[in-house]
Amino acid sequence: MTQRSPGRDGTAAVVVGASMAGLLTARVLAEHVDRVVVLDRDTLPEDAVPRGGVPQSAHAHGLLARGLRGLEELLPGLTADLVAQGALRADMQGDVRWVNEGLPMARRRSGLDGLLLSRPLLEREVRRRVLADPRVSVCERVVARSLTHDGAGRVTGVLGVTRDDPAGPHRRWDADLVVDASGRQSPAPWWLSTLGFEPPEEERVEVDVAYATRHYRREPGHVDGDLGLAMAGTPDNPRGGVLLAQEGDRWICGLSGILGDRPPLDPEGFEAYAATLPSPVLHEVIRAAVPLDEPRRFRFPASVRRRYERLARSPRGLLVTGDAVCSFDPVYGQGMTVACLEALVLRDVLRQGLERPTLAQDFWRACAPVVDAPWQIAAGGDRRFHGVPGPVDRRTRLLNGYVARVQRAAAVDPAVGTAFLRVANLEVPPSHLVSPSLLARVVRSSRRPPVDARRPEPVAA
Ligand SMILES: Cc1cc2nc3c(=O)[nH]c(=O)nc-3n(C[C@H](O)[C@H](O)[C@H](O)COP(=O)(O)OP(=O)(O)OC[C@H]3O[C@@H](n4cnc5c(N)ncnc54)[C@H](O)[C@@H]3O)c2cc1C
Repeated sequence: MTQRSPGRDGTAAVVVGASMAGLLTARVLAEHVDRVVVLDRDTLPEDAVPRGGVPQSAHAHGLLARGLRGLEELLPGLTADLVAQGALRADMQGDVRWVNEGLPMARRRSGLDGLLLSRPLLEREVRRRVLADPRVSVCERVVARSLTHDGAGRVTGVLGVTRDDPAGPHRRWDADLVVDASGRQSPAPWWLSTLGFEPPEEERVEVDVAYATRHYRREPGHVDGDLGLAMAGTPDNPRGGVLLAQEGDRWICGLSGILGDRPPLDPEGFEAYAATLPSPVLHEVIRAAVPLDEPRRFRFPASVRRRYERLARSPRGLLVTGDAVCSFDPVYGQGMTVACLEALVLRDVLRQGLERPTLAQDFWRACAPVVDAPWQIAAGGDRRFHGVPGPVDRRTRLLNGYVARVQRAAAVDPAVGTAFLRVANLEVPPSHLVSPSLLARVVRSSRRPPVDARRPEPVAA
């Protein structure tokens, strides 16, 4: 039986964080409780502009094919609305150039649908749609500080302060369920400790990624009309870069370095850094393009995975999701997709009832396999760079060696490229890369010479 706070009608959920994970969680919860209140410390902008609570929103955000499908499942019609606002549909292999291991991936239409747009536009449209539901409301400029509880292992709400009066009185939001979707700085481990529970184990990969980002005007002739360029670092040259089309005829160009190697923020240094990437294509575009702003920095110290699914005990009425559970090295572009997949998991788990005592454990255990594959890709992939601290087990070493072979094979056999992109887009698990048919293609391809990195193959039908 739901314990309701005095004076509160119906069931309620409180979500901390109105970014991608929080909004998608609210969307799902609205089907199961009478009211969902989303708290965010920010003022949420009317316009599609970056905001302080999501500092990464000024930087390139690729949406994986699985994420786009998931968003459409939760918010039908979203893609068409975004396209009407300037987002660009793209086939992940036919319209985007990939350079892995310094080699361009052979091209063809893959059937992997992507959407290219700015992160603020995506978030604003998701927010608009989620808040259009009368059961969902948002409280802006509220910082969640602590949880309320019944003294018997059940969370009963959130205490927060308004940013306009941080020393002022705490306000209380009562809830049958509280979801922490407050991102990588999540207070949930500390909240658990204060309630007498163990915090989750934490795994970290200290990759110390530095981003520098700049926008350029996009001209029709750039990159032969392609919509994106994604270049991954290699063990010999860990520098990477992306150039992605966005609404408003813009490119967003992101350069990345690791372990203290920081792309410069002065325009000359930024361009010079681009010239040192594993392939010259990106530099060739930006040196001739018109810049629209100055380069901006973001630093990402470590990928972090919190193992909530391993908790022996946790309070009833508290879930944690999104980056608060796992934040991945952003160069793999996985975070929004995983947040979406976790919302879909929550939808399934809630179908068995909001009130059962094992709700949190069931949710985290069902999320763990969803996080496993992207974590393996990101955390395992980063282990290929010399100097990333921590042991590299034999399996990871073998896998990284094999993935490098797959990427070299993808430069000559477009079907291998599609298989790789299906895994990278979280459409299928990494085990698909070792299917007998793909192994055979990889071996065959290694006998053929790779194509020149400067001249990508034409798009095959
Ligand atoms: C540089 C960079 C690039 C990235 N690129 C990609 C990409 O290409 N593709 C991709 O899929 N993902 C990418 N990500 C990851 C992506 O941004 C996140 O995974 C995604 O936003 C989901 O995160 P979230 O909603 O869990 O948390 P966040 O987006 O971090 O949002 C947390 C929210 O909680 C609010 N908040 C925090 N604390 C409190 C509090 N105490 N009280 C009230 N509100 C609070 C914040 O204001 C914010 O709105 C990137 C991340 C970084 C850092």
